[in-house]
Amino acid sequence: MPSHFPIWDHPVVAIDLDDTLSEFDGYKGWRHIGPPRPYAQEFVNLFRSHGWVTFLWTARLEDGLLREWLHEHKFIYNGAPAFNYINKSPINLHINCNPSKPIADLYIDNATYPFCGHPVPLREVAEELIRRGILDGSGMGKASHTMRHAEEGRPST
Ligand SMILES: [Mg+2]
Repeated sequence: MPSHFPIWDHPVVAIDLDDTLSEFDGYKGWRHIGPPRPYAQEFVNLFRSHGWVTFLWTARLEDGLLREWLHEHKFIYNGAPAFNYINKSPINLHINCNPSKPIADLYIDNATYPFCGHPVPLREVAEELIRRGILDGSGMGKASHTMRHAEEGRPST
């Protein structure tokens, strides 16, 4: 039984889509996904840059549509998709556990942590995760540096 953090050999984060990464103004049909919320791409990449494995976890089941939306809105990290997995957890795959009950170290969702239904800006969420040390402490300076440069419109190093 895993009893340490991270559960797997990399920390894993599940991130929701509607009203978390994307704007959501009511259900408008399965083909409609709202535009990305501000800082959405940077938010996912912040985890990647700290060595986390990312997966999108959404009730939407159309993988092709999800991949199109992610590609169209440039959810890209180091030239590859920013999400390592779509609607599946690598931990479940690794231990052959029920894939409909995804295992992750952290689950970011507008209905739950850390929003609890309130529209907290993703940048503030990122700052809180860094402040609380949830993101790897060794990368905290790098994250702050990256965010500062992003705010100033300069390329990060
Ligand atoms: Mg949602």
